[in-house]
Amino acid sequence: MPSRDAKPGALLNRASPPPVLSNAITTPRPSACPGLLRIVPALDGGICRIKLPGGVLSATQAHAIADASTRYANGVAELTNRANLQLRGVHRAHEAALSEALIHAGLGPDSALSSADDVRNVMISPAAGRDPYALIDTTPLCAELLALLQSDARFAALSPKFALLLDGGERLARVDHPHDVWLAASPDEGGVRFVFGLAGCPASAHLNANANTGGPRDANGTGALAAVPPSRVPALVRALLLTFLDLAAADATRMRDLLATHCADALLRHAQRYVDFPLARDASLGHWQRHIPADASLRLGAHAQRGDGTSHVGGQPPLGRIDAATLRGLAHLADKHGNGMLHATPWQSVLLPDIATQAVAAVLAKLTALGLACDPAQAITHVIACAGSAGCAKGQADTKTDALQLAERLPPGVDVHLTGCPRSCAAAHCAPYTLLAAAPGLYDLYRRDGRPGFGQCVAPQLTIDEAAALLARLARSTPHA
Ligand code: SF4
Repeated sequence: MPSRDAKPGALLNRASPPPVLSNAITTPRPSACPGLLRIVPALDGGICRIKLPGGVLSATQAHAIADASTRYANGVAELTNRANLQLRGVHRAHEAALSEALIHAGLGPDSALSSADDVRNVMISPAAGRDPYALIDTTPLCAELLALLQSDARFAALSPKFALLLDGGERLARVDHPHDVWLAASPDEGGVRFVFGLAGCPASAHLNANANTGGPRDANGTGALAAVPPSRVPALVRALLLTFLDLAAADATRMRDLLATHCADALLRHAQRYVDFPLARDASLGHWQRHIPADASLRLGAHAQRGDGTSHVGGQPPLGRIDAATLRGLAHLADKHGNGMLHATPWQSVLLPDIATQAVAAVLAKLTALGLACDPAQAITHVIACAGSAGCAKGQADTKTDALQLAERLPPGVDVHLTGCPRSCAAAHCAPYTLLAAAPGLYDLYRRDGRPGFGQCVAPQLTIDEAAALLARLARSTPHA
C-alpha cells in the first residue's frame, strides 16, 4: 500500500486539533453562512458546515463525523458544491458540543482568529497531484494559501463566501464555478505559470463552445489578466485580497462588486504596492484557454492515476447525501484499499485515491453496495437539488424528493438542477436545465442559453412527470445542451 505521507494531500489534512484550538471554542463572527463554529438555524434544525482543506478528510475524521452526526444532528452528512461537508438537523443546545467534537477530530481551522474558519475557501481538483494531465501538483500551494488566509487578521473582513480557485490543469477539475480569484496552471517555456483572473472562471474551449458559464452568478469576470510563476502565487493572492479590502465599499462582499466600481487595471495598479514583482495586464493572454478541457465524468468509476499504477475510484451518493453508516463504510474502504483518505468533490461525490489495480473491482462493488452511483450513465449522477421545503423556509417545493422521482424518469446524460427558490444554493454554476419551484410539485423549466440567471424559461408550472417528458424531448432535439 502506498505511504500515506508521501502522497499529494498529506499536507492538507491533519489528524488532531492545533494546540490553539484544543481547549477553547473560538467565538464565531456574525453571518448568515453556516460554519463549524456558527451553526445556523433552518427549518429542519441547525446547519453546521465543515470545511475540508482541499476537499480531503481522513477515515478517522469520517468516523468522527458519522458519530457526531448521529449524536448531535440528523445523522446525514451532505457534500457541498465546494467539496465541503455539512450536517443538518443539529439539535438545539447541542451546537457547542458538535463544534467541539469536530474540532477535536482535527476538522477546525488552524488558528483561533475568529475569521479563520470562514476564510478557508480554496478549491483544487479532487485528483490534484494524481491526475495524469495535471501540469503541477497544487496541494502544497493550496496548503500555503490556506495558511495565509488563516494567519492574517485583516482577512477577517472577507465574506465567508469569498473563494479562490487553484487549477492545476487536471482533467478532473471543476472550472465552471465563478471564483473571486482564480489561478490556473498554464504551460510555459520554463515550466508552468499560473494565469489568473478575477470574479470568474478559467476559460476552457469546452465551456466556451457550449456557452455555459453564464449563470446565477456572472462567470465572465475579468478573463485572464496576467501570469506569475508558482513561487509568486501566495504574494499575488495576498496583494489581491488586500486590494479588495482597501477598495471595496462596506457593502461589497465579492470581487464582482468591486469590479462594478473599479476596472481590472486599477486593481492591478493598486495590488502592485504589495508585491516586489511587476504586476500589469498581459495583453497576450486575451485568448488564453486551459490546455485541456475538464471532464466531470472522471469523478465516477475507476481512472488511472499518474505514474504508479494505482487508480482513483469514485461514486456519487444520491443528491450528495451520506448517512452515517455509509460514511463509516467509505472510511473503512479508504483504510482497507486506499491511503486512508476520502476526497470530497465539488460535484457532491466522493473519490477514493491510491487504489491498487487488483482492488479496483472490489472497491467499485462496495461503493455500489453502499448506494453510490459509479457510472455517469446513471441519471442520478446528473441531478442536483437544494434542501427545498423539507429543510428551508424559502423552499416552494420538496426539491430533494422531487429530484429522486425525476432521476427515475430522466434519459441518460441530462444535467438538471432543482432549486426551491431563485437563490440557487445547490449550484454556483448555471446547469443546462434548471427546475425552479413555483409551488409544491410544480416547477418552471429553464434552459441555459448564456443569458444571466437560469437562462430561458421554456415551460412553466410542470409536474415532475411533465418535466421528465419535456426534458427527454429537449435532450433528443439538442443532445449537447
Ligand atoms: S435555493 Fe432557496 S429553497 Fe433552496 S436551500 Fe437555498 S434558500 Fe432554500
